[in-house]
Amino acid sequence: MIPEPVSAPGNGQTVGIDRGVAVSAALSTGELLRISGLTARERSRMRRLERKLARARRGSNRRGRVRLAIARLKARETDRRKDWAEKASTYIARRFDLIRVENLQIKNMTRSARGTPQNPGRNVGQKIGLNREILRSGWGLLVRRLEQKAPGRVEKIRPAFTSQRCSACGQVDPKSRESQADFRCTACGYACNADVNAARNIAAGHAVTARGGGGITRPVNREPHLLLQSA
Ligand SMILES: [Zn+2]
Repeated sequence: MIPEPVSAPGNGQTVGIDRGVAVSAALSTGELLRISGLTARERSRMRRLERKLARARRGSNRRGRVRLAIARLKARETDRRKDWAEKASTYIARRFDLIRVENLQIKNMTRSARGTPQNPGRNVGQKIGLNREILRSGWGLLVRRLEQKAPGRVEKIRPAFTSQRCSACGQVDPKSRESQADFRCTACGYACNADVNAARNIAAGHAVTARGGGGITRPVNREPHLLLQSA
């Protein structure tokens, strides 16, 4: 079922949204939206059930019961993720006129982590783990719902350098990304939650290559020196 469009607030405001791993979505306003998946208790129950399933004899009644319990838990997680995407997308579509997100090909990312036999992917385990987290975080569903609820108001921004660029001064340096969670600019010292910093770059449409490449859906400042002047 396709949800009804939500009318734009008409306030001229733009928001950037970054998909996080620790948080489900960071807004350029500084808000962090967390998805509620399974609780710690439910996750440990899931692990127990999976061990039980591995031990249960094929075709046994016990195996059937364990499978059903696992399916119920998974359904609960899916429901929560869907519910989150519905609420978050309505909230964002109501508050902002223009919504900018990274253009991520989620399915391709999952597939490409493994690489090919000729060109095997590096850090495959790590990448698959990260990609699985992204899928689980409901990002794909959130973006789909945003496009349905805010038709014509969602722009996809090329993701290059969004996490390495300082949203205050425009400097691009991978060293500024101190950790998964923290950003501290090596040029100007601006410090911020790393996902929020990326969301601000996405909001500004600054997600261009350092050499001023394209890939953006509408004209924005493409030259890093222009960004510096306007900062
Ligand atoms: Zn800076």
